[in-house]
Amino acid sequence: MVDVVVIGSLALDDVSTPFGTVKGALGGSATYASIACSLFSSPGVVGVVGSDFPQKYIDQMKSKGVDLRGLEIEKGGKTFRWSGEYGLDLNSAKTLKTELNVFEKFDPKIPSDYAGVDFLFLGNIDPSLQLDVLSKMKKRPKLVVADTMNLWIEKKREEVLEVVEQVDVALMNDAEARELFRTSSIVKAAREILKRDSEVAIIKKGEHGCVLFTDSSYFACPGYPLENVKDPTGAGDSFGGSLIGYLAKTQDFSFGNMKKGIVYASSVASFNAEGFSVQRLCEINMRDVTKRYGEFSEFVKF
Ligand code: AMP
Repeated sequence: MVDVVVIGSLALDDVSTPFGTVKGALGGSATYASIACSLFSSPGVVGVVGSDFPQKYIDQMKSKGVDLRGLEIEKGGKTFRWSGEYGLDLNSAKTLKTELNVFEKFDPKIPSDYAGVDFLFLGNIDPSLQLDVLSKMKKRPKLVVADTMNLWIEKKREEVLEVVEQVDVALMNDAEARELFRTSSIVKAAREILKRDSEVAIIKKGEHGCVLFTDSSYFACPGYPLENVKDPTGAGDSFGGSLIGYLAKTQDFSFGNMKKGIVYASSVASFNAEGFSVQRLCEINMRDVTKRYGEFSEFVKF
């Protein structure tokens, strides 16, 4: 039974980093988020691909326990495509091309058992689609987590702000938070998020970890000291998918448990960056994640 619904992109990615290049690789925010979520819970995806989307990618996602009854395959349509490159600073991707294709006119249909779930992850995609899916849920889920990125902040700032207003946990990276709230201060940006009804603001800082703010508390989680990063694409999405998967599994939204969730999410995101596309994410299991979680708890203690 699906307990977390994930909406976001399913993509064919062309990615180049100093350590290699892939073309037409499995990518997309919903892809990374749902595979990461499946380590903790049972995710179902709402999204769309074209008939050029390889069956082997569908099989790969299903083999990780991702439910794809909410995935539409548009006959004759072209799948969302993204191409990006990274220099030696792997913290920020340069987007070379974004082709929305089948996402341009996507009207999400939510399977009826998805519409009643308690956990909803609004992965990075057009904020109008994020709001549409939220409005189509039968009841307000117990926990809604949302992510975004610069393209949407530039094209649809008001809608992104509306998403922040509607959700419980707003996630974004530091550059996006600065851009959205037109400030150089991450703390001020987090305050702006919290002012808009999000109970929790999480600002991701790539290899430097992330910070968590609520009205009364603050927590910083460092990045895992990875020596061999290959491709950080999707690390933010796997972070988000793991976090909501962990919270769905534990059903505990206390600050203490949120901190644990963030350390689990950081562990999974660090594995994601060790390989291209979803390769490492598909190889790891909970034993690997728990081991890395243990290492985190050692090096944040003083
Ligand atoms: P991340 O590295 O976490 O920012 O996520 C990268 C993934 O997001 C890639 O697999 C892309 O296919 C996907 N992506 C890139 N741009 C967009 C966009 N504008 N909307 C939705 N997904 C995107």
